[in-house]
Amino acid sequence: MGTSMFCPAILRITGGLVSRSYFCWPSLVKVPTTRNMSQFPTVEISPPAALKGPINVPKKLLLGAGPATSSDRVLAAGALPLLGILHAESFQVMDEIKAGLQYVFQTKNELTLAISGTGHAGMEAAAVNILEPGDVILVCKKGIWGERMAEMAERMGADVRIADKTPGDAFTLAEIEEALKKHRPCVMFITQGESSTGVGQPVEGMGDLCHKYDCLLIVDTVASLGAMPLFTDKWGIDICYSGTQKVLNAPPSLAPITFSERAREKIANRKTKVGSFYFDMGFLGNYWGCDGGPRKYHHTGPISSYYQFREALAEMADEGLENSWKKHENIIAQFHDGLRKLGCELFVKNKEYRLPTITSIVLPSDVHWKDVTTYVMQKHKIEFAGGLGPTAGQIIRIGFMGSNACPEVLATGLAALEDAIKNARSQNAAKM
Ligand SMILES: *Cc1c(COP(=O)(O)O)cnc(C)c1O
Repeated sequence: MGTSMFCPAILRITGGLVSRSYFCWPSLVKVPTTRNMSQFPTVEISPPAALKGPINVPKKLLLGAGPATSSDRVLAAGALPLLGILHAESFQVMDEIKAGLQYVFQTKNELTLAISGTGHAGMEAAAVNILEPGDVILVCKKGIWGERMAEMAERMGADVRIADKTPGDAFTLAEIEEALKKHRPCVMFITQGESSTGVGQPVEGMGDLCHKYDCLLIVDTVASLGAMPLFTDKWGIDICYSGTQKVLNAPPSLAPITFSERAREKIANRKTKVGSFYFDMGFLGNYWGCDGGPRKYHHTGPISSYYQFREALAEMADEGLENSWKKHENIIAQFHDGLRKLGCELFVKNKEYRLPTITSIVLPSDVHWKDVTTYVMQKHKIEFAGGLGPTAGQIIRIGFMGSNACPEVLATGLAALEDAIKNARSQNAAKM
């Protein structure tokens, strides 16, 4: 062994055309002689027995709050060969993602890219780039996402003001204007798809209102982008972010985000450095080719996730946003009819405020939510979610997002829910 050995991978890549120098290499370079294994100390922690068996990943129908289901095309893209992150082909994939994001966000913003990390990374990046210590941020809170943004902004030293709304309700423009007048913030945050309560917040008009009061607008679209109309430029949204695993049907991995010129100006005029190196949009914009300069290494982008997200965006582009919006609206209307027939109530009372992705459901009073979610998982391999934040313990949440917004999946979901309600009642009867 040792000196006559050469790497089989080189032969594979060059198709057997290995140059002479490879064969000569051992004589040119001093190779250390093979180490005697007995020189190494024995490990104290043994290889875990759990890793000796195969990985256990059953197929389930994901009808909770995300992730939703990825297509075979998207999953297959994850198995493509790795590329270096500064290779021309990687840049091309990133450019294609950027173009896809400008489409789904409906924006011409140059600073549009996908952050490495899930939806929370988009949230954190939005806050940490735009906020400086002491900045006043108005958080429109109507569920868990407002709570989390307030928490993040507080950690960044911002002066956090809250506009509160009962869970299940949405803000009106008049209420927003009142809060803007009262608090005079430089940034306002609101969630379009409030997945913790099932509210679809109307956002149109908020950008103009914020700008009238010299305020920038951040909108969270993690649970809504692709399922309901959103026009970043036309509606004057300054920072908009989303996630990959909900309507867009890619695995959880990236956080699409876009910044308007106004937002970029505020960042450019910062007196303090952005409080996060990893999420600094200056570096990320360069790495994503948004600043016209030569792209430099900032961090190792999750290249396989880029492939998958590129394919998911290609599927959305093929389908067309308008078709996707219509599809979600139709399926959710049919779902809500079916729920009424099962004696369930909708947590969101105002029809105009119901989110077309995730529905918050009040079960009949004799049915416990946990019995339903546990049963559908065990019996049907289907995920329904429980409540979250202010709705925890009160409701279940069922989502038909992206490819799951179709008649077949709807029928399967409704039949499983009906079966679970029946089962819960027969369990109740057995206990009496
Ligand atoms: C799911 C969700 C998030 C968080 O996304 P993660 O991918 O779980 O980090 C943020 N906002 C909303 C509205 C969501 O639905």
